[in-house]
Amino acid sequence: MIDITNYDDDNIFAKILRQEIPSRKVFENKYVYAFEDINPQAPIHILIIPKKSFCSFQDFSKKADSKFICEFIKSIDLIAEKLELKEGYRLITNIGKHGGQEVPHFHFHLLSGRPIGKMVST
Ligand code: 5GP
Repeated sequence: MIDITNYDDDNIFAKILRQEIPSRKVFENKYVYAFEDINPQAPIHILIIPKKSFCSFQDFSKKADSKFICEFIKSIDLIAEKLELKEGYRLITNIGKHGGQEVPHFHFHLLSGRPIGKMVST
């Protein structure tokens, strides 16, 4: 059962941020780290994570300061620009059990490279 109320310093994305395990970096600045998903669901599948400890979007919204939130969101646009996603892309963030969240460090999935299809599976 995923815990998104107490941050787990040993979650896999925390380890990636500490460079304890490898990842394929796409973009990095003071606020975010973006890297390829290990199990891509589309030709482009990037994970965008804050360089601070937030369990989920909910935790991020409640605890991050306004500047950090703003710079995090703007960084997503910088990533999309860098990847030249002229045909668009989809952003997803899963929250908790019903959201299907597996890794308890807030992240956006950026999916592109083909039409991504239906919003949810039936
Ligand atoms: P969630 O289900 O939490 O929204 O998404 C977690 C994502 O992390 C999944 O798409 C999964 O493939 C990805 N993932 C899990 N472990 C690793 C890893 O060690 N490296 C990378 N690059 N992605 C991972």
